[in-house]
Amino acid sequence: MLEFLEDWGMVHLEEIRPEDLPAKSKVFLNGNWVGVVGTEDTGEVVDALRLQRRTDKLEAEISISRDIYNQDVHIFTDAGRCCRPLLVVGNSLQEDGSEYQQLLLRKGHTDALQRLEEDLQPATDAEAAGVDPATLSPALQRALKLGRSRFTWLMQQGVVEYIDCQEEEGSMIAMAPGDLNAGYCSTYTHCEVHPAMILGICASIIPFPDHNQSPRNTYQSAMGKQAMGVYLSNFLVRMDTMASVLYYPQKPLVATRAMQYMRFKELPAGTNAVVAIQCYTGYNQEDSLIMNHSSVDRGFFRSVFYRCYVESEAKVPLDLSAVATTATGALKLGAMVERFERPNRANCSGLKMASYDKLDDDGLVAPGVKVSGEDILIGKTVTLHPPPPGLAVTRNARIDRKDTSVSMRAHEVGYVDRVMLSTDREGQRFVKVRVRSVRLPQVGDKFASRHGQKGTVGMLYRQEDLPFTQNGLVPDIVVNPHAIPSRMTVGHLIECLFGKVLTFKGQEGDGTAFTPVTVEHLSRLLHQMGYQRSGNEVMFNGHTGRRLEAQVFLGPTYYQRLKHMVDDKIHSRARGPVTLLTRQPMEGRAREGGLRFGEMERDCIIAHGTANVLYERLFLNSDAYRVHVCDACGLIAIADLKTMSFKCNACGSAKVSQVLIPYACKLMFQELMAMQIAPRMIPSVDTAASSMG
Ligand SMILES: [Zn+2]
Repeated sequence: MLEFLEDWGMVHLEEIRPEDLPAKSKVFLNGNWVGVVGTEDTGEVVDALRLQRRTDKLEAEISISRDIYNQDVHIFTDAGRCCRPLLVVGNSLQEDGSEYQQLLLRKGHTDALQRLEEDLQPATDAEAAGVDPATLSPALQRALKLGRSRFTWLMQQGVVEYIDCQEEEGSMIAMAPGDLNAGYCSTYTHCEVHPAMILGICASIIPFPDHNQSPRNTYQSAMGKQAMGVYLSNFLVRMDTMASVLYYPQKPLVATRAMQYMRFKELPAGTNAVVAIQCYTGYNQEDSLIMNHSSVDRGFFRSVFYRCYVESEAKVPLDLSAVATTATGALKLGAMVERFERPNRANCSGLKMASYDKLDDDGLVAPGVKVSGEDILIGKTVTLHPPPPGLAVTRNARIDRKDTSVSMRAHEVGYVDRVMLSTDREGQRFVKVRVRSVRLPQVGDKFASRHGQKGTVGMLYRQEDLPFTQNGLVPDIVVNPHAIPSRMTVGHLIECLFGKVLTFKGQEGDGTAFTPVTVEHLSRLLHQMGYQRSGNEVMFNGHTGRRLEAQVFLGPTYYQRLKHMVDDKIHSRARGPVTLLTRQPMEGRAREGGLRFGEMERDCIIAHGTANVLYERLFLNSDAYRVHVCDACGLIAIADLKTMSFKCNACGSAKVSQVLIPYACKLMFQELMAMQIAPRMIPSVDTAASSMG
């Protein structure tokens, strides 16, 4: 590359005089300043380099960009840059002398490819049949040679090129060839292969995104990542920390062209559900949805959840073992040796309040065992140091091990799916235990369509309680119509309408962005199938059997099950563990934590004027604490309530008052005192009357 640049008049950094710099453009190669070219030549150099790339004399992935503001030329050849193909646009002269823009891709190119395509099939067939390629006709031989590099051929012709994001900054890219001379712009350099190519991976899953309000596409792009599916086909042999797999994933009825390249149809994340948009019984208010319980019984949106527990036998080598300093001098302690085994109360201390019964003799649970609550999955012990000689033995002499077993997550249940015992690079043994649990859709679980329309299950109705059509069709999901108008997810409705047409045609649909599919066309097709143009249907009340007054928009829509499930979230607490430092309740469900009563909640209680509720929540139920304060100096005094003797260490007074304060408050006072600030609590006359001095 450097030689190449020298040929194009680049002066090396070492050879240039500093005073010449202002009139030159810097050339950077992979971010390193390698030389300069004359500012007036910059455009020429850049154009020449690009031409070399287009004519295959330079590597296609090289990016060449020009920063006109800073007078820099940036060339990147290194790995890790994302490149994408674009059609090259060139300027041509019209007969009247005016310039116009057009694609460098001409009919000749596509015709050549077409011919190649025609020759390729017989050529590959002949090759598969074992015919010697040398005996084939020249056209077929050529086809065979070019067949696997059709795209490369187009790049060699200079009609397509790879552009990375650096070069994209300095390019003017048209969305479609039709935009080229439409009067928007006359300086296009490139054109998209298809306008849908502007979308990324997540947004390419959405059908008809060009019919949705843009934030809804953004929401779906974030939500699609939480959708359950088959994330990898070898999930059964993997030991992932957490994994959810959908039982019966389906490829979407309305797909997009990008899905083919992302293999979404082979490893999908969702189900084609029959969705009715309707108010029914009131159990689908505010983004909740009614689900068909009978469908769930048949496997609708059933999924399995895997969690892995990992533990290793850590060993501290003897020569590195801990050295403790005692009154008698340095003392060498034995190595800390961990061992997988079933802990035995006879020689092991610190056993948890949990069931060790499910462990085998090797200290591991067996596959197939039902485990729940805080059952022990991996039994492990560690050697205790022998008591230093000369010191009093405080523990039972039999006990030489301590329990360090791994228990199941407190709120989870499941079956042991797989147990793996192996050794790592250092030769240390480690175990992985995978626990499996089947998750049925239930009230509170989250579902979403591909248009940012998410909701939780509000009610599960059996098939007979749901509305049905004249043909006896019962929806799997009933969503509330109020979810539609303000959100303007028209793509959702088009997908439903198109899906309905496709079920009767027995075809897969293409919902790629910016394709000319019209609602009128779909309506006409639907009408030909004997349905209403609008997609509405007459339905009957499942409870009464009476005809519903309003007609219902009904059809198949691709729905996703999201990994947020109530069973992982349900939580309450009355009493429980507190943090060591502040004595306030712990945070988080996994630690049996409290529910935060924050500032805004506090404001509400104040506004209600219910001071005692506030006192109870913020003090009594949190970190209530009692201190004895010296009446004379206001500092915390020593109190021995057994002998009822009191003394202030600061001033020597024996008159104290009992004060109730939050523990966090006491903590702060002591921290202030450590900083030479003395916060004093001076008891008032009222309270002093009840002082205990
Ligand atoms: Zn005092």
